[in-house]
Amino acid sequence: MRKDDGFPPPESGSSVSPDRPWFTRRSTLVVGVAALAPACLAGWVLTQVLSGSGSDGQQQPRPLPASHSALAPGQRDAKPGSTPSGSPSTDASSPAAAPVPAPAKGPLAGKTVVVDPGHNTGNFKHTDEINRQVDIGTGRKECDTTGTTTNSGYMEAEFTYDVSLRLRAALEAQGAKVILTHQQDRPWGPCITERARIGNEADADAVVSVHADGVSAGSRGFHVILPAKVKGGGADTAKIVEPSRELGERIAGNFARTTGSAPANYLGSGTGLVVRDDLGGLNLSTRPKVFIECGNMRDAKDAAQLTSPEWRQKAAQGIADGIVGFLGG
Ligand code: ZN
Repeated sequence: MRKDDGFPPPESGSSVSPDRPWFTRRSTLVVGVAALAPACLAGWVLTQVLSGSGSDGQQQPRPLPASHSALAPGQRDAKPGSTPSGSPSTDASSPAAAPVPAPAKGPLAGKTVVVDPGHNTGNFKHTDEINRQVDIGTGRKECDTTGTTTNSGYMEAEFTYDVSLRLRAALEAQGAKVILTHQQDRPWGPCITERARIGNEADADAVVSVHADGVSAGSRGFHVILPAKVKGGGADTAKIVEPSRELGERIAGNFARTTGSAPANYLGSGTGLVVRDDLGGLNLSTRPKVFIECGNMRDAKDAAQLTSPEWRQKAAQGIADGIVGFLGG
């Protein structure tokens, strides 16, 4: 059973244009690898090179990415003796010298990112509420969906919330203001309309909706969903299509690097990018926004990764690194 994001999956014709594969564009390392391999395999080869252990779920634990230490330089600045002039904040024992909260530092200072943990663990118990139809501009759709689970019962909504918390921490470490669309503090939802509205009203510089897929075993890998150009009712994505694509490409490339996962082998033609016009959360967004399906919960190898806290940290870091790249870090 699959009650995920309004599938069936999109037709293959909606995938990324083949002349602009993400893995040939952004980083010099990616370009270098792509130049050495047939283009159709470059993304996969890249993950092999960078992970050093293939893409199965039994990779040895690796140290967390170093960028979690991004705040350290700013914090070190406030330590005694760290600056020649001596800082008023060095005497932390004196209330009078209590430091004024410093403006956020880091490449995302002044930026707002909205993180949307897909679904809600309570949705399974509130099917009447979430099945209520809402207006997504181009049509009507369920307010929210239950999401999928692994075969052992780990809920997609648990996964998305865990990754979202890790993503929030990683982004805040880079100086961003981060808003979650919910914090498992409500019995169900929010509706997809509200999820979109939160990003819009926050005037977010980037919005990411975190998901995992639920398709047949053997289908593996991640993909990033980009908004199609749609117009109808309250939906008009003309202004976000291009920036969302750049955001998605950045996230896909970095996600592959940090997790060692390959782009999905069941859609997107191996690019890890898919365009959809049927998701209210994208259609109603006025801010650059993508969804990421981090893996397939119904595949045992992917599930082994999705249920690993260490892997989820890598996933969050890859998404964060993509956002940093997109926002000019
Ligand atoms: Zn989902």
